[in-house]
Amino acid sequence: MASILERVTHKIENHERLTREDALALFQARDVIGLGRLADQVKRARWADRAHFVINRQINPSNVCVLSCRFCDFATKRGRPNAYEMTIHEIVERLHPDLREVHIVAGLHPDWKWEFYLDMFRAIKQRVPQIQIKAWTAVEIDYFSKKFRLSVEDVLEQLRAVGLSALPGGGAEVFSERVRKALFPFKIGAPRWLEIHRIAHRLGIPTNSTLLYGHMETYEERVDHILRLRELQDETGGFMSFIPLAYQPGKTQVVARQTPATEDLKTVAIARLLLDNFPHIKAYWVTMGEESASVALHFGADDIDGTIGEERIMHAADAASPVSLTRGRLVELIRETGCVPVERDALYHTLRVYDDAACESPVS
Ligand code: SF4
Repeated sequence: MASILERVTHKIENHERLTREDALALFQARDVIGLGRLADQVKRARWADRAHFVINRQINPSNVCVLSCRFCDFATKRGRPNAYEMTIHEIVERLHPDLREVHIVAGLHPDWKWEFYLDMFRAIKQRVPQIQIKAWTAVEIDYFSKKFRLSVEDVLEQLRAVGLSALPGGGAEVFSERVRKALFPFKIGAPRWLEIHRIAHRLGIPTNSTLLYGHMETYEERVDHILRLRELQDETGGFMSFIPLAYQPGKTQVVARQTPATEDLKTVAIARLLLDNFPHIKAYWVTMGEESASVALHFGADDIDGTIGEERIMHAADAASPVSLTRGRLVELIRETGCVPVERDALYHTLRVYDDAACESPVS
């Protein structure tokens, strides 16, 4: 009888879509290298030996949040010693003229006014006009809609009018009611997350998507999550990328240890094979670490995110990766894998292909 890898190879060669059962069998497959090779072939058919990165800055304007999700090490309450709230001045001060993307997500702040969010974007665009703002997860968009009594369409349109380019993919965690009830019972579930992304896509605002794995979810829940994203992508075509995020145990310790690298690589590879309608699969170096992220470029990933600048959410959960990488280091990291670095913007437009030996001086 043919092995699962042989069966999946046959399907891919015949342009047949993989099923839930195929994906579950792949998670059980022992031949991780064979799985990686297959995902790499699929990635190469689309991107050849290119690997994308972006000169970006992550800003988390406050960790004060009205919720207290069980798996979250980042959020806190006002008045606690670790609580912080940035002013708009402190936010724009973090920006650099070379940046192409600013990625903004935060806690669900209890008091900030709607005008504050709009002014924040206005100030960012004034400071760095060419920057693309990728901001606020579906959880935050839902919060703004309810708190400020605006429709989701109004929230998105008003944010776009002051500079929003795209939504990040966070907040989805895993689309399982069982896990939601256990880890984040007061946060929106799958139907609302998907609805908000559907609305964004309808308005022409592209978005990313994520999966938080390696805590209490099962392989079935992981696969179902990925398939629900594939279904929405069939409908809208608005997702740019899928980003598997390895859970960082930190102090919440839903599980004692982070998933092993093989599990990270399998998840990237299976995502590439299942998500035949997604252009980009990202190996996020902040959660995977530089080493696994670079190997993942041979397991189906075509993107390793960016310079970041200052990551607070995963590092609040004791992520072992650095808080920032330079452009030079990203170029080197990609080149070391034998891939060609491609600098992109937040919307995946190509800005520069590093197919020569020269490397730009690092950006801090
Ligand atoms: S996961 Fe998000 S919504 Fe939940 S506590 Fe953390 S910051 Fe708040």
